[in-house]
Amino acid sequence: MSSSHRPDRSFDAVPALDGELCFDQAALEAAAGDFGRLVHRLPAAVLRPGSAEDVAAMVRYCRERGLKVAARGQGHSTHGQAQVADGLVIDLGTLNSIEIDGTTAAVQGGALWSALVKATLPLDLTPPAFTDYLELSIGGTLSAGGLGGQIGHYGTQAANVLELQVVTGEGELATCSPTLRPDLFRAALGGLGQCALITRATIPLVPAPRSVRFYSLTCPSVAALSAQQAALVGEGRFDYLIGEVVSPSPGAWTYVMEAAAYDATAADDARLIGDLEHTSVEVRDVPYFDFLNRIAPSMEQLKTIGEWQRPHPWYDSLLPASSVDAVVTETLANLKPDAIGLSAVILLYPIPTAKCTTPLPVMPDEELAYLFSLLKTASPGADSAESMVAANRSQYDATVEAGGRWYPIGSVPLTRADWEHHFGAFWEEFSAARHRYDPDGILTPGQRIF
Ligand SMILES: Cc1cc2nc3c(=O)[nH]c(=O)nc-3n(C[C@H](O)[C@H](O)[C@H](O)COP(=O)(O)OP(=O)(O)OC[C@H]3O[C@@H](n4cnc5c(N)ncnc54)[C@H](O)[C@@H]3O)c2cc1C
Repeated sequence: MSSSHRPDRSFDAVPALDGELCFDQAALEAAAGDFGRLVHRLPAAVLRPGSAEDVAAMVRYCRERGLKVAARGQGHSTHGQAQVADGLVIDLGTLNSIEIDGTTAAVQGGALWSALVKATLPLDLTPPAFTDYLELSIGGTLSAGGLGGQIGHYGTQAANVLELQVVTGEGELATCSPTLRPDLFRAALGGLGQCALITRATIPLVPAPRSVRFYSLTCPSVAALSAQQAALVGEGRFDYLIGEVVSPSPGAWTYVMEAAAYDATAADDARLIGDLEHTSVEVRDVPYFDFLNRIAPSMEQLKTIGEWQRPHPWYDSLLPASSVDAVVTETLANLKPDAIGLSAVILLYPIPTAKCTTPLPVMPDEELAYLFSLLKTASPGADSAESMVAANRSQYDATVEAGGRWYPIGSVPLTRADWEHHFGAFWEEFSAARHRYDPDGILTPGQRIF
């Protein structure tokens, strides 16, 4: 073990570690913020674990001393979810091994989705479900749920896990699956790091297509987009299906359906889009990896123009199909450009809830739900980050009123009562698991649930 300058007596007598415990200002500062740039909390130390045993040993160590612990993947949360003041941040980036055995991959929690798919593609295999950005950690998205355009076929990323290795809040290194300690498995997947930290996930692999035919169709209204998406996701016509609301000019909105068919060589345009309502269409064939990774160039562009470095008060909701048109229409009617910033993205796509086979993330109580996301940036001249967060709170209230839930990765100040409502019927099981597996309540305080 090595450790940089240790200013704080509370970290005396640490156990022998395979990795490194860091106290230098650069390491602490790097763990004190996130992509949201709204919350700053300086930890007392950062662990770069060399093994899952390191994670377990330091969780036990912190528990004995009453210190809080937060795992950090890539820090792409937006409201301090991976942060802890005066406690220990475990930067899982050093636990990133990937082992492929037949049609499964055993992946450590800090590995990135981009690394996993780069490792599986030479074997003509792929994980079934992705997020739209691949530079997120396996443990980070599995703790949130992991939503993307393959959800119509495979559900969330959390629904595509065979087994987990976790470290509980007692510092126990445990293995769980749907049949082995299922209560721990259910509380860890989508569990926002409240009961256990994910050190390894076993993920099933499916045959990978070589190429993808990608369609971008413009629909005339919210209702046309959502109805078409509902029909298509119901029949499983496309392998990938999302939607975006874009603003060609202030106050105007355009509704774009993005759909992909695997493999491009087998795609039949007449069958796939011949009967679809649209005002314009773009069609292109792309290699599978480029398709999965297609938002990466835009993210680099955001870094170049400085938008990536600005505050991101994101809001993501899960709306029941019965209220989606009304909520989206009302929201867009009142949405000024300054309320979302220069590089905002608005997502709208369907989720068949039965495909999401884990209790978390919580879905609305209907067969079909929609992700409706307002991914805001507090750009220069736009509303302040604080007022965007306040607007998120109002939007959250409207979501709940409409029978929806939030997808808990964004920036909404919630009370304990809000959280209880959010977890709904699962609250009792979830809070029992928290008390069982993290009896001293040391894990992941940045979520502000317990
Ligand atoms: C550009 C961009 C695009 C995105 N696109 C999507 C998308 O398409 N779909 C989607 O679902 N989400 C998307 N997200 C959100 C993203 O999935 C979540 O914010 C996710 O939690 C980030 O992963 P991370 O590795 O950065 O986690 P972090 O931000 O580091 O951590 C998130 C939370 O999980 C906890 N945590 C981290 N690792 C672990 C672990 N191993 N075990 C237990 N708890 C852990 C942290 O303590 C924290 O509470 C996007 C985010 C960004 C910035």
